[in-house]
Amino acid sequence: MNLSKIVSFFDEIAPERLQETYDNSGLLIGNPNNEISKALISLDVTNEVINEAIVNKCKLIIAHHPLIFKPIKKLTGSNLTEKLIVKAIKNDIAIYAIHTNLDNISNGVNKILAQKLSIHNTHILEPSASKLNKLICFCPTQHSNKVRSAMFEAGAGQIGNYDYCSFNTEGLGSFRALDNTKPFVGEKGKLHQEAETKIETIVPDFKINQVIKKMISAHPYEEVAYDIYPLENKSFLTGAGMIGELNEEMEINDFLRDVKQKLNATHLRHNQLLHRKVKKIAICGGSGSFLINSASRQNADIFITGDIKYHEFFEHQGEMTIVDAGHFETEQFTKELIHSFLIEKFPNFAVQISEINTNPVLFL
Ligand SMILES: [Zn+2]
Repeated sequence: MNLSKIVSFFDEIAPERLQETYDNSGLLIGNPNNEISKALISLDVTNEVINEAIVNKCKLIIAHHPLIFKPIKKLTGSNLTEKLIVKAIKNDIAIYAIHTNLDNISNGVNKILAQKLSIHNTHILEPSASKLNKLICFCPTQHSNKVRSAMFEAGAGQIGNYDYCSFNTEGLGSFRALDNTKPFVGEKGKLHQEAETKIETIVPDFKINQVIKKMISAHPYEEVAYDIYPLENKSFLTGAGMIGELNEEMEINDFLRDVKQKLNATHLRHNQLLHRKVKKIAICGGSGSFLINSASRQNADIFITGDIKYHEFFEHQGEMTIVDAGHFETEQFTKELIHSFLIEKFPNFAVQISEINTNPVLFL
């Protein structure tokens, strides 16, 4: 498999432009034209993970955390990052990172964490409100189902928890094919009228290119007529953290014991437990303390994330229980998530999940 195919697939499901400004997701090491016969999925790139890739003949490591964060001015192997870069290059191993762009999509890191913790009816906790566009396509009526489906499959027509949303009007299209044309219907040089459907749908900015590409390839006409209008409406399909509900109210102790067990966590650090049953749960895999206030504003009973600092535990005491379940622990299912995206799209591509626990935090 050509590496560029994997890169462009990931850019479709979690576009690089959705990553945070401090992040460095994308292809970090390797030639995009390399042929890759096997990939290894890991949370981090460590020396052990590179060894695992070498032993298993994986020429690509797909990691959640980028190996390279800060710009590099020299490559002398003077620190761990430089050593790992040199080792990857010497062994012809490409490295791809899919980090905050995978955090910021609605079916990403937080979705799989919510599923594992049995949190339902989820939505994004702090939406990034990407810009929306109205996309209108004119299509011969007999082909409108095919074109509409292609647009939906590429990400058009999602409003809240509804997808495949569109409005369709039947009408009469007209055109005249000039020189150097091969009209799908009608004759060259003659005015033609065709029964057409006007398909109206919406597309967020970050999906517009892929939707137009799929729309044009499904459309039978040589020249596809379509309009794009920028809208004032915001899309809330992307952003940080997630909030949802348990099926039924639970005793807080029972729920947290359940969380501890499902995350295989050595311990949970938390502030004062609420003296009431809990139902509304906010989460953020990794370092999510910047979302404490968002979780509280949305009346979460509990907020679960990693990397909570001492002073942050003082906030919202008695209103919301803040739980630090560990950075690694809350992101551990990301490997499984990346794996499921890949095997669904490329069922014949060899891809394996790293068996190495890269959690650098240990407990005595
Ligand atoms: Zn992380």
